Amino acid sequence: QWARVRGRLKDEVGETAYRSWLKPLTVGSLDGGQLRILVPTRFMRDWIRTHYADRIRALFSGENPGVQSVEIVVASAAKPDLTVTPANDAPAAPPAAKPEPVTELVIEPSPALVVVEDRTDEMSAPLDPRFTFENFVVGKPNELAFAAARRVADAQAVPFNPLFLYGGVGLGKTHLMHAIAWAIRKKDPSRRVIYLSAEKFMYQFIRALRFKDTMAFKEQFRSVDVLMIDDVQFISGKDSTQEEFFHTFNALVDQNRQVIISADKSPSDLEGMEERLRSRLGWGLVADIHPTTYELRLGILGQKADRIGAKVPPKVLEFLAHKITSNVRELEGALNRIVAHAELVGRAITLESAQDVLHDLLRASNRRVTIEEIQKKVAEHFNIRLADMSSARRARAVARPRQVAMYLAKQLTQRSLPEIGRKFGDRDHTTVMHAVRKVDELCGTDPAFAEDVELLRRMLEG
Ligand code: ADP
Ligand code: MG
Repeated sequence: QWARVRGRLKDEVGETAYRSWLKPLTVGSLDGGQLRILVPTRFMRDWIRTHYADRIRALFSGENPGVQSVEIVVASAAKPDLTVTPANDAPAAPPAAKPEPVTELVIEPSPALVVVEDRTDEMSAPLDPRFTFENFVVGKPNELAFAAARRVADAQAVPFNPLFLYGGVGLGKTHLMHAIAWAIRKKDPSRRVIYLSAEKFMYQFIRALRFKDTMAFKEQFRSVDVLMIDDVQFISGKDSTQEEFFHTFNALVDQNRQVIISADKSPSDLEGMEERLRSRLGWGLVADIHPTTYELRLGILGQKADRIGAKVPPKVLEFLAHKITSNVRELEGALNRIVAHAELVGRAITLESAQDVLHDLLRASNRRVTIEEIQKKVAEHFNIRLADMSSARRARAVARPRQVAMYLAKQLTQRSLPEIGRKFGDRDHTTVMHAVRKVDELCGTDPAFAEDVELLRRMLEG
């Protein structure tokens, strides 16, 4: 009966609406003419009540005249998919939130979910037109990664799988991945190349889970020729996303499709990653990008100045290459500032003007505060033990200073929320986010507290 009703409903409402709303239904008991239909969420219940209940009742009565009315109820049994999502995978879940009772889960309607056919273009993040092989300056620190990237882009068959690129922030991982994508697309536009961040991968996966659309999700990813996932460290500790990623990864490699991964660490150093995934990631070619050398920085600056058509004296380029050593992004930022400044005031670029413009930036890059320094200073200031920055103690006397330290770490370092969380006794990034908000809020309501935080900040900035 239910199968026939399902079939009819599907014909009537169409495949997409059916998948989204009606497929997850299960039929419960028939009791005194009342048929119970079970749905996974309250939101779905309301939606189905208003949109489909009449139709469902009519169809069932047609099959079985004993059905007089239909009651739509929320029941956890109807949602097996969601049980595989651990709480730590939900992006931006409030910290320390109690696990929501299943029946309370509210899912907001998403217009995007009705697109079921080919979504690969939509899933792939846009490519930066500047990130090409031509614009990539090769030097000792990145020659292996560059050669590997070129090989993957040029080879007829898959040369190694996966290609795993790793290195610190701003050293060109994303640039190389985009360059590969551009080159492949140019050579053979029919090949399906998908580039996306691990964060986006996770987001899409979770959305698919919520909407019971995992089949479509899998299909989309498993039908590509080249899959690139950037910053895979993001899914550290995200178990179900890792699981899905692992399967997608294996499916593609088995079909001899090229997979390219980047991360901030080597596969074996990726903490919070399942062992089998870590080992699998290292099976192909692992290429690291080392911190830049002076020569490479100078080369990059020269190329960049040429490209934007700016006349920059060699002395200024040398000065920058000497002073800004952290990463290429900052190097480019500095050059841009100097060029913009010269244009604005209508004067040629000189060493003096460059020094002036970069005063702030240099001070910041010379004195990079570390999370450890912040923890130490904050602990001293509030007179608590340094160990309590990472301990599990929740007493306000230690929890509040810990939040302040997290807040300052977010403000004064380039670290991401997950990285900060890890330094504070492996806490979740949502805890850090909560701390940042809390301290912000307190600074707004408690002037004495705000002064404390400001004082600490000044001490740390030096
Ligand atoms: P990552 O992904 O490793 O954090 P990106 O690829 O985003 O770093 O690089 C940061 C910036 O530095 C980008 O604008 C990129 O074009 C530039 N860049 C990095 N390495 C090079 C290089 N070798 N030649 C030219 N530009 C580079
Ligand atoms: Mg990147």
